[in-house]
Amino acid sequence: MTEILLLDDDPLQLKMLARTLNGLGYTKLIGCNTAAAALAALAAPGRDVGLILLDLNMPGVDGVAFLRLLAERRAEVPVILVSGEDERLIETAARFGASQHLTILGTVPKPVWPAELRAVLDRWESPAPVNAPPAQYPAEEVARAILHGEFLPHYQPTIDLATGALVGVETLVRWKHPQHGIIMPAQFIAVAEERGLIRDLTRLVLRAALTQGKAWRQEGLELAVAVNVSMDDLARTDFADYVFAELERSGVPPRDLILEVTEQRFATNPDAALATVSRLRLRRVTMSIDDFGTGTSSLAQLRDLPFNEVKVDGSFVHGAGSNPILGAIVTSSLDLARRIGMRTVAEGVEDAADLAWLRLHACDLAQGYFIGRPMSAEAFAVWRTEWAARQPSLFS
Ligand code: C2E
Ligand code: MG
Ligand code: MG
Repeated sequence: MTEILLLDDDPLQLKMLARTLNGLGYTKLIGCNTAAAALAALAAPGRDVGLILLDLNMPGVDGVAFLRLLAERRAEVPVILVSGEDERLIETAARFGASQHLTILGTVPKPVWPAELRAVLDRWESPAPVNAPPAQYPAEEVARAILHGEFLPHYQPTIDLATGALVGVETLVRWKHPQHGIIMPAQFIAVAEERGLIRDLTRLVLRAALTQGKAWRQEGLELAVAVNVSMDDLARTDFADYVFAELERSGVPPRDLILEVTEQRFATNPDAALATVSRLRLRRVTMSIDDFGTGTSSLAQLRDLPFNEVKVDGSFVHGAGSNPILGAIVTSSLDLARRIGMRTVAEGVEDAADLAWLRLHACDLAQGYFIGRPMSAEAFAVWRTEWAARQPSLFS
């Protein structure tokens, strides 16, 4: 069995933690009360440290500084953060560790309860990758899948928060891999962007979405259709003309096509996209800032680009009614958007409380698992009848 290294400046805490671990059956422990001692133990020949339990609040080199030292040494040992600090501070430290490519197995508040520690230790013993960025498929495979038509659009409904009426869908791409089944965008969008494949992928999704939009219209269903596009798409001089041609082909009115751009991607090179966005807006295509609030330049985007819709990121929306910080972020984002005449959309609505809270705060549109998951066009037809049945009780 590998050893567990405990780093805490307080000898009493170390002793208590060791006792708790012994109680859980872990006996090979190394207690350290300074960062220097811990680093020495990690580097010592013959030692086999398989896990670090790290206190955050220490004089001198604190827990966060220690994480940085581990990252500099490219340590692969997983870390559990143990701290009496408030939850947000611990979570922030954990996110920092993950951003430095450390494996942060979890966080445990002090005083340490055996059951809580047990739950996090279980992740160590049956390691499911936590925080690890999803593995990206090789570009060659993505290129092959584009050629073979293995990408399928899924559609997630968007509703009007005043009435509950279905107003549109967001197109979310899925890869139906011949061996691996359904692959989510997190595993191929980044590689497609990096390797110049996103143009083909976007065209494929855009065409599929507008074709579906046309089919819905023929059934009398006038839905807006949103498609996620990359900064690289907007930076191409032929993109706006391609969109206009596809709109023409499908007969979907420009205002019912929504192009969603994430700020993160936008921040890289806004200038090249200015012309494209202006041309799209001149023809009344709806331009939406996706994942609003998560980037570093949200306000600069609002200032510089003629977008007309803001999608507040789901990580702020779910639980906004019970968490004052999330609530403040969402209400000020909504207020900001409204003041400059932008339509507001909330994503990530996961329960009835989220929905009620957003209605109270007069957000325009909403999307989320509570309303409907991303689904195939066939499943969407079934969802519509289900929604028609649920809508009256939720929006009475
Ligand atoms: P996004 O555009 O912000 O899409 C929302 C993501 O949140 C989707 O993940 C959706 O399935 C998920 N989601 C929806 N409702 C909820 C909810 O209530 N709770 C939670 N926790 N999640 C919810 P998905 O489909 O995995 O897509 C991830 C991202 O990949 C998208 O984020 C978008 O940025 C990108 N993406 C998806 N399709 C395409 C595409 O065709 N082209 C490009 N360029 N990017 C795409
Ligand atoms: Mg989106
Ligand atoms: Mg989003």
